[in-house]
Amino acid sequence: FLLLCFLAAVTEATYIKYKDPKQPLGARIRDLMSRMTLAEKIGQMTQIERAVATPDVMKQFFIGSVLSGGGSVPAPKATAETWVNMVNGLQKGALSTRLGIPMIYGIDAVHGHNNVYKATIFPHNVGLGVTRDPALVKKIGDATALEVRATGIPYVFAPCIAVCRDPRWGRCYESYSEDHKIVQAMTEIIPGLQGDLPANSKKGVPFVAGKKKVAACAKHYVGDGGTTKGINENNTVINLNGLLSIHMPAYYNSISKGVATVMVSYSSWNGKKMHANHELVTGFLKNKLKFRGFVISDWEGIDRITAPPHANYSYSVQAGVSAGIDMVMVPNNYKEFIDDLTDQVKKNIIPMSRIDDAVKRILRVKFVMGLFDSPLADTSLVNELGSQEHRQLAREAVRKSLVLLKNGEAADKPLVPLPKKASKILVAGSHADNLGYQCGGWTITWQGLGGNDLTAGTTILHAVSNTVDPTTQVVFNENPDANFVKSNKFSHAIVVVGEQPYAETYGDSLNLTISEPGLSTITNVCGAVKCVVVVISGRPVVIQPYLAQIDALVAAWLPGTEGQGVADVLFGDYGFTGKLARTWFKTVDQLPMNLGDPHYDPLFPFGFGLTTKPTKGN
Ligand code: BGC
Repeated sequence: FLLLCFLAAVTEATYIKYKDPKQPLGARIRDLMSRMTLAEKIGQMTQIERAVATPDVMKQFFIGSVLSGGGSVPAPKATAETWVNMVNGLQKGALSTRLGIPMIYGIDAVHGHNNVYKATIFPHNVGLGVTRDPALVKKIGDATALEVRATGIPYVFAPCIAVCRDPRWGRCYESYSEDHKIVQAMTEIIPGLQGDLPANSKKGVPFVAGKKKVAACAKHYVGDGGTTKGINENNTVINLNGLLSIHMPAYYNSISKGVATVMVSYSSWNGKKMHANHELVTGFLKNKLKFRGFVISDWEGIDRITAPPHANYSYSVQAGVSAGIDMVMVPNNYKEFIDDLTDQVKKNIIPMSRIDDAVKRILRVKFVMGLFDSPLADTSLVNELGSQEHRQLAREAVRKSLVLLKNGEAADKPLVPLPKKASKILVAGSHADNLGYQCGGWTITWQGLGGNDLTAGTTILHAVSNTVDPTTQVVFNENPDANFVKSNKFSHAIVVVGEQPYAETYGDSLNLTISEPGLSTITNVCGAVKCVVVVISGRPVVIQPYLAQIDALVAAWLPGTEGQGVADVLFGDYGFTGKLARTWFKTVDQLPMNLGDPHYDPLFPFGFGLTTKPTKGN
């Protein structure tokens, strides 16, 4: 009997409620929070960059989260195993703390797992909007989750649910459409990433279904796509009704699908920084919409509440945390942030209740997704990275994302689909044999890269060569002169031109021209032979002055690694089906111009897209 009493006492003393997966979620959170010190709580709210994260730092500062900011990789061409080891190394640092709270690692997997060598790069959102196919986008979410988990990472800063109202914005390609209804439909990527929300779920409660799924992040809340002239991080001038009816609706869908996190926008709404907007972050998102996941700041988003030369860091921290931001993407100067926030809580400038709300939300996500019960990643999913199945899915998405804007002068004389059997065809243009240009910004590096070495995939040139009849001669010349084209007697030509990669502010553009020497390539080729021009770009670009010379015109957006999808449709194995999810302007001085505007006079209207039928036995 004494022995039994002793054993019961020991079990009682070592039983830790929050570690028991059989306990209800609320009980686990309450138990853990009752044990936490202020330092441990503030650590949970702190997200740091991988470059400054070490197991020791994780341990010493109780860091709650780490990120790979745009393209920060462990090493160039690192394998999935290298990623897993890197993430686990940091996780072990977090687990070695007194309470052993796991950290959550996040990454910008915004068109597939785009930071990682050999991952499948799917068409960017601007192309996915064209497909009008939420089920397809859900499958892309599912594949992306597997590829991200293959590298040991449980959290993505996606989807971007911006409604881009002005293509001069450098992030327009991260937006599915200028139309909020299409953006709303595409939030189906969230159950793809996180899993389907169980039917009995309470509104706003975050949900992530286990180790093959990831926590998603709807961003950037709110109005990021509405800034004046499309200037990144700038001011969105719109009345409340406009904000609620254009920029907000996709958040309703995201929350009802159980999105785990929401990222705040750098932009301002009518002059007020979103990072300091208590009414919209706490009042609307948390209280009215009942969002129960955590709100994360953007990269140094809190710092930018007060900008130099009047920067006041303490005020920024106070305004940001008080607005309702739960996790702060610091991401480098974490000591300064931790010290400052600690000081403000001790002085009662920021109430403890605000810290508790933040920590409760962060822990809720971590518990819900099983991080406490299984914090370390293994290498069982590494073969998911860039798998054939995912590449086939991406190829299908490319096919459905293409928009045929012109096809011959008369309906009875279409140029596409092109015959597979021809004597000699020309493939020309800066973008014809350039995987990096196809993959665009946020691929391997923040701003993207040119060239074919960055990752594995198929360029459009190679796709054409793979597709034509073996007797058809394919000649590649990046920028041929007119004499070359004339003297060669080509049957027809495919010209692939467009924009070079860019991300965020670097992509802001007032002229929206295609990169040189694209226009001379169009003129030299199309003046001499029947031509299809394929435009690789993150948005509509200036094309009207050249349209008369072009026989057929295809918008291919930023298709990613599977260029084969372009050839599948050009040569008629599949038909063109895509419809513009953006208005294609005539001249930049018409901008901004969206469907429904009073002076709507586009070159190609929203919803436009010619179709072709697949050619059998081509
Ligand atoms: C971007 C976010 C991104 C973050 C982390 C910021 O500059 O605005 O969209 O998730 O960086 O890389």
